[in-house]
Amino acid sequence: MAKILDGKIMSEVLRSEIAERVVRLKARGVTPGLAVILVGNDPASEIYVRNKGKGCQEVGIHSETVKLPEDTSQEVLEREIERLNCDPAIHGILVQLPLPAGLDEAAALARILPEKDVDGFHLLNAGRLLTGEAGVIPCTPRGALHMIRQTGRDLNGLEAVVIGRSNIVGKPMAALLLRENCTVTICHSRTQNLKEHTRRADILVAAVGKAGFVTGDMIKPGAIVIDVGINRVDGKVKGDVDFDSAAPVAGWITPVPGGVGKMTITMLLQNTLEAAERMS
Ligand code: NDP
Repeated sequence: MAKILDGKIMSEVLRSEIAERVVRLKARGVTPGLAVILVGNDPASEIYVRNKGKGCQEVGIHSETVKLPEDTSQEVLEREIERLNCDPAIHGILVQLPLPAGLDEAAALARILPEKDVDGFHLLNAGRLLTGEAGVIPCTPRGALHMIRQTGRDLNGLEAVVIGRSNIVGKPMAALLLRENCTVTICHSRTQNLKEHTRRADILVAAVGKAGFVTGDMIKPGAIVIDVGINRVDGKVKGDVDFDSAAPVAGWITPVPGGVGKMTITMLLQNTLEAAERMS
């Protein structure tokens, strides 16, 4: 039976370390600050933003939410980003995605100063990750890698398979695993014989967006299985991995809820703290 990689416990440890570093920074007169821009009234986004605010409060990071109406123009959104770029009390800026239809996400993200881009979605930070330079690493893959490291396994040369190739999860996850010297395969909706790939994986990361998509028969015995999925089914949150069939096969597994999702916000706090440390 797989060991559980518990995002709640790992987050608690990391958050207490972050809180200590925040205290040290405050002693030097700097309070790390995060600004979240929320456009429109998407209920899921509102919950995410509230949780980010709570996370900040817990570790002593100043946070503010800039709420803009659904019909905000691109110009107004970008002006707001510019204002925050120039605000010395703000070290991290995050534009909550998805933006309402009609707004250009890529153009908005490109406006954020790369040093304040705590989501790590700016092209410069994406490029730095690929070329191996120091930059901001997107929160979800960073959290997932932390969980993988907690297994204590030597990652050098392991077969890693990532299902999903989004810019926010799949691609940066694959880049991070490559940096750890894994042999990385990225699978997506056009992949043929998916199971042949996944059954080779010592590390299997599922970022598909389909509840219960990865079943036990797709998993190599003893593998590290990281479930990034957050899918709402009949009012419950379900992962991309079918936990009941996967757990008896895997060596380690992340639960949903209480796995990667919890780590994502913790990594946002860490990225904000590190941005403030670099700027002070
Ligand atoms: P996207 O929809 O952007 O990407 C999904 C990926 O899955 C695509 O690359 C797609 O392939 C691939 N895919 C879809 N169907 C199949 C299939 N049948 N076989 C193989 N691959 C397939 O999603 P995200 O990356 O944004 O998110 C993935 C999941 O992670 C979602 O459930 C999301 O809610 C969750 N999430 C969780 C976070 C957390 O904090 N835990 C943070 C961010 C996301 P193709 O490119 O060919 O279309």
